[in-house]
Amino acid sequence: MHWRERAACLREDPDLFFPISVSGPTLRQIDRAKAVCGRCPVVEQCLAWAMRAGNVEGVWGGRTEAERRAMRHGTALQTSRAE
Ligand code: SF4
Repeated sequence: MHWRERAACLREDPDLFFPISVSGPTLRQIDRAKAVCGRCPVVEQCLAWAMRAGNVEGVWGGRTEAERRAMRHGTALQTSRAE
């Protein structure tokens, strides 16, 4: 079984995971999406996929696009320091 078949968001409105901004009332939408991710049995696989995929819009693995970008940046910084 593919991890996506176990996703908690399969039973949710897909629009919930694609906020149109990251401010104002949309923050509540992001919180609601993250709450679904928070009880998702495949959150780690989802986040790993989104991190590998790169610039993917929306909330995946409990993180917004901006948060994943920051994570990638942090990982890159740690990698460059280790070299
Ligand atoms: S972590 Fe969130 S976006 Fe990813 S599969 Fe689970 S519910 Fe869906």
